[in-house]
Amino acid sequence: MHCVIGSGPAGVACAKALLARGARVLMLDAGIELETERAQLVRKLSTLGPSAWLPEEVGTLKNAMEASSKRIPQKLVFGSDFPYREADEHIPRRESGASVRPSLALGGFSTVWGAAMLPYRDEDIRDWPIKNDALAPHYRAVANFMGMVAQRDDLEEWFPVYADNPGTLRTSEQAKRFLYNLQRHRQSLRDSGWRFGRARLALRAADSAGSKGCIYCKMCLYGCPYGCIYNAAGTVSEMRTDKNFTYQRDVVVTQLRESSGKVIISGYHRQTRETLSFEATRAYLAAGIVPTTQILLRSQNSYDQPLRARDSQYYIFPLLTLGRPREAAEEAAYTLSQLFIEISRPEMALRPVHLQIYGYNEIIAQTVRKSLGPLKALAPMLAERILIAQGYLHSNDSSGIEMTLRRSGDKDFLEITAETGPEIRRAVGRVMGEFRRNAHKLGAFPLAPMLQLMQPGAGFHSGGTFPMRTHPAEYESDVLGRPYGWSQVHVVDASVLPSVPATTITFPVMANAHRIGWETANT
Ligand SMILES: Cc1cc2nc3c(=O)[nH]c(=O)nc-3n(C[C@H](O)[C@H](O)[C@H](O)COP(=O)(O)OP(=O)(O)OC[C@H]3O[C@@H](n4cnc5c(N)ncnc54)[C@H](O)[C@@H]3O)c2cc1C
Repeated sequence: MHCVIGSGPAGVACAKALLARGARVLMLDAGIELETERAQLVRKLSTLGPSAWLPEEVGTLKNAMEASSKRIPQKLVFGSDFPYREADEHIPRRESGASVRPSLALGGFSTVWGAAMLPYRDEDIRDWPIKNDALAPHYRAVANFMGMVAQRDDLEEWFPVYADNPGTLRTSEQAKRFLYNLQRHRQSLRDSGWRFGRARLALRAADSAGSKGCIYCKMCLYGCPYGCIYNAAGTVSEMRTDKNFTYQRDVVVTQLRESSGKVIISGYHRQTRETLSFEATRAYLAAGIVPTTQILLRSQNSYDQPLRARDSQYYIFPLLTLGRPREAAEEAAYTLSQLFIEISRPEMALRPVHLQIYGYNEIIAQTVRKSLGPLKALAPMLAERILIAQGYLHSNDSSGIEMTLRRSGDKDFLEITAETGPEIRRAVGRVMGEFRRNAHKLGAFPLAPMLQLMQPGAGFHSGGTFPMRTHPAEYESDVLGRPYGWSQVHVVDASVLPSVPATTITFPVMANAHRIGWETANT
């Protein structure tokens, strides 16, 4: 019996590969779920069309996601913070200048994520011991079980579409106009190192096997009542029909030990605190970078040993478009990322950057309304002209994060500190400079004073505390995710990424987890 710890994207990708190779899998998981009343409400809405939804019920599901004039709010799902809940209690940590949050949810952060999906390019993972020839079949397997929306466009030159039958989504009028401008200047933007195209998303676009496809109800940012946005919890439900798969919730794993050819996994019951212990042939750690790092350091008795995590710097800025589509507020649309822009321009002295473009949504409208004060009557008109660019840098151009396990009496905690890195504001300024210089082509100006530079970790694209190496030393892992000194424990989440390129993290993490599961299932 192999044991997978965690039910997020990494855990399910690894478990799928293990099951495909005929192995028996026990998944141990903290497994917090959406509150019952909210889940019942979501079920009710999912049986009705949006025109039959009661405003107060929709209001409950949008609860607590109010934007302020300065800040995009923390993303919740169906008005609930369950993806983040109990983390302080079970994964003790002290943060200084960095924010790397763990999830103890069934499905991990895929319960609340933005579903943006791109693989990494070989050029961006030069420091990795494995490359895309080894990852390609696993990207394919993952894309096919998740379901993916993708277009055959210029992005494909750099990023293969691994899905066999990708779905398509209707782009909003606002994004269509912006894309039209980009396409009019396609050649000159290409010459400047730009590639762009429709966003690739892990989303069910069309009805399939009795499940509804996207109906453009604009609920994406609050949680899709029809379950169209990929959530690893759905894959757990599917795997539970396999006789070789067992899911055990309410388990908080604290420590691992190898003994006589077995892995002994220790922990406790999340609710009763009863001590628990499990035995496995191999253990696959997929608990997310913070819990995984804490469990490993504790298991190795490695206190006061600082480890360097890699983070992809996250930033947001609005673009004010010259044209304004008629009634963007009323248009039936999806509200996840509409377009991707990739810029690889050596003159910027940065590794390639990735930007996700979002169109009109209620949260943008609220932010604009609140920042206009007495002029708020202009808000609807302005909000329909605003696109939001959500950008990332390669981890080598971003600040690092130091993680150290410290003792405090008979307890311990993970100390998480931002490292001073390269001049991030200047680096992001170069990206904004690209947008400023090309504003006449884009028909849109970046609003520099409204740039939000997030703390290291806040973009949830962090990893690398136990980086994979061909010849690992202490606090590094081999190409099968085994930290130095371990032979049957594999780390399959972002903790083993040697670096974190700017494009989205989850798809490569899942492909790597699937690869490790596949290659070790029968050993
Ligand atoms: C708001 C938001 C938006 C995002 N958008 C995107 C996006 O668009 N694209 C993208 O690529 N990425 C995105 N991400 C990041 C993405 O969600 C994560 O990269 C991904 O979920 C990581 O998967 P994971 O399986 O490694 O860990 P997690 O998703 O963190 O899952 C961890 C799992 O381990 C379990 N667990 C944790 N500790 C323990 C323990 N001690 N014992 C037992 N079980 C434990 C948890 O219950 C959970 O099931 C986003 C994240 C957030 C929060």
